[in-house]
Amino acid sequence: MKYRLLPFLIAIIIITASCNQNTETTTQSSTADTSEELNFIFPKGQKGPDKNFTGNAYNIGLVNDSTLTTIVGNVYFEPGARSNWHTHPAGQILIITDGVGYHQIEGQPIQVIKKGDAVTCPPNTRHWHGASHDTGLQQMYVVPNIEKGVVNWMEAVTDEVYDQAK
Ligand code: MN
Repeated sequence: MKYRLLPFLIAIIIITASCNQNTETTTQSSTADTSEELNFIFPKGQKGPDKNFTGNAYNIGLVNDSTLTTIVGNVYFEPGARSNWHTHPAGQILIITDGVGYHQIEGQPIQVIKKGDAVTCPPNTRHWHGASHDTGLQQMYVVPNIEKGVVNWMEAVTDEVYDQAK
């Protein structure tokens, strides 16, 4: 009697196994956006305002101690997202912890930045930074001497400028 159930049990096992396989395949294709594969060392943070960023960029302050004169934070840029043009009165250091992005000081070629890179921007120098076209960017920032100011925001980086990195 119980052996009559065996074909059904086998059928259920096969169906369950193929369902699991389908689920994995679906999950993989839905995460084709490579930004989903980036490591998040820090919390994602709050979306930056559209007036200062093109696309989705998320900022979180990591060190904001009023007894110090340096701030440290992290920005996660989704693919295609970038800051507006801006300056820092005392300059800025960027440390890339994952992904691929672009950094451009005005008048210079776009520099590709990736995990493990550290780049600087001199004081009062127009520049922008953000993710690459296809891969997001995890970018730590260090802004020293904030008694001189943190950031002066300017106009958006046009697609024409951004696409020069292609
Ligand atoms: Mn900057």
